[in-house]
Amino acid sequence: MKKILVVDDSGVQRKMIIQIIQKAGFQNPILEAGDGAQAIQTLATNFQDVGIVLCDWNMPNMNGLEFISAIAKVPAVACIPVVMVTTEGTADKIAEAKAANPNLAGYIAKPFTPEVLQSTITPILQSNI
Ligand SMILES: [Mg+2]
Repeated sequence: MKKILVVDDSGVQRKMIIQIIQKAGFQNPILEAGDGAQAIQTLATNFQDVGIVLCDWNMPNMNGLEFISAIAKVPAVACIPVVMVTTEGTADKIAEAKAANPNLAGYIAKPFTPEVLQSTITPILQSNI
């Protein structure tokens, strides 16, 4: 079963996202990272098992845009579907994220409901088992 990588500098946000995933019935193993740099380290050893990345935008060290831009340039991880989960929900920001990573598979603006998160990630995980 593919792993889900949750990248957010807020531990509370990560916990909330993970709870929604698990309440929705997904039993996929979950990995966590507190910023883009940590997420890259996590992917370095787990990239073959990761089926989706849920990524915050505003984070220290390496932000979400820098992170998705970086992985888009590395063939081994470029194909991993990325869903941004962020307060940066304007059309400009969404376009910027799409330009940074063509595999952007979804965009969830905070605050969001469990239903939105569930309906966004369900088809991605189902097509990527
Ligand atoms: Mg943040």
